[in-house]
Amino acid sequence: MKHVYIETLGCQMNKSDTERIYSILSYFDYEKTEDPKNADFLIVNTCSIRQLSEEKAFSRLGVWGKWKKDKPNLKIALCGCLAQHTDEDLLKRFPYLDLVFGTQNIYELPKLLKEEKRIMAVRKKDYVPEENVGFKREKSVNAWIPIIEGCNNFCTYCIVPFTRGRERSRAPEIIINEAKQIIKEGFKEITLLGQNVDSYGKDLKDKPTLACLLREINKLEGKFRIRFVTSYPTDITDELIETVKNSDKVCKYFHIPAQSGNSEILKKMNRKYTREQYADIVRKIRREIEDVTITSDFIVGFPSETEEQFQDTLSLIDEYELDYSNIASYSPRPHTVAAKMTKDFIDEKIKDARFQKLNDKVKEMHLKSNKKFVGKSMEVLIEDNKGDVMKGRTGNNKIVHFKSDKHKIGDFVTVKIESASTWHLRGKIE
Ligand code: SF4
Repeated sequence: MKHVYIETLGCQMNKSDTERIYSILSYFDYEKTEDPKNADFLIVNTCSIRQLSEEKAFSRLGVWGKWKKDKPNLKIALCGCLAQHTDEDLLKRFPYLDLVFGTQNIYELPKLLKEEKRIMAVRKKDYVPEENVGFKREKSVNAWIPIIEGCNNFCTYCIVPFTRGRERSRAPEIIINEAKQIIKEGFKEITLLGQNVDSYGKDLKDKPTLACLLREINKLEGKFRIRFVTSYPTDITDELIETVKNSDKVCKYFHIPAQSGNSEILKKMNRKYTREQYADIVRKIRREIEDVTITSDFIVGFPSETEEQFQDTLSLIDEYELDYSNIASYSPRPHTVAAKMTKDFIDEKIKDARFQKLNDKVKEMHLKSNKKFVGKSMEVLIEDNKGDVMKGRTGNNKIVHFKSDKHKIGDFVTVKIESASTWHLRGKIE
């Protein structure tokens, strides 16, 4: 048995790809190791969303390359978004790199592994992967199902349409079969994944919607939860809101990146909504679904962003009580329109200061949101434990800590919430 170690950078889509790569390699006598020094095959699954992530991948390769002196049979590969968008010959730049494969070449790994020579396999033409590769998942509480790959939106700051290609949905029957298998294997949560998950089905013949898919999976027998990420604001339909409201297994949780609270900046970002339209969607969801959690993503320091426009982002979070938000400082990415707006780039110090202010606001809102649940009884799925201290998650994505010596990972329990801090709730089993 040989050992493989994968360093995964970036989003859940990459984590899901890593799971698939481990699964494919397991058929070729590779066993997963948590220790890179113990590995015969090292893979860095890269992210390109920010410059920093790319630098991290290169620095990892630098460290691993040195290990080859003592371990000449060590195989090193790079895959993921960086492989997909770069025009550079990475094999020339990194002489110790054996294999580079793109996000759309994962299913070719069995063939690539047989190659004797160093190889760069990056498919530029979009395709939907074959489905006949047996897939072994790691034992855990949650299982991901990618339902749509790629994005057609071309936000001016984003590299995803260049790394993951245009939107391609997987057939509903394949997804439902995968969901059935996941439930049979004992997973307690299914997360439907897509860069733009609400666009699901628009490219398929019968135009199935995400709502349809959720309802079909909701009908499957067993005790489990269903989540979906990430949503594009204007793709959230009334049908989807109704489905989330009325489907007992679908979590009352939406992740809807706003990116900015200012309509002018949103236009420059090529986001196809205004501040008011975003707010309307948030209001509608809150009106329809009790105790729903709505989280978001924001970029600070997009080219030309003024202090006043930045203040609009703070006020959006405040006025519409966004429960939690991820923040990123704008970083120019190759191929994108915004990367050419060089004369409007914002000074790094101003970006850092805005990041800090936004971070403070996000933490304030997270605490406020968590406090709303003190005194309530909530169903929690246990995800982890340290001795008798259990850590779990509610359907609306709140992290809950409580004590129990009778329960284990994967159990659903009802917890009465007694206190709240910025990052989690604490309670007692009822
Ligand atoms: S919606 Fe915009 S930010 Fe999201 S993946 Fe597509 S292009 Fe990127």
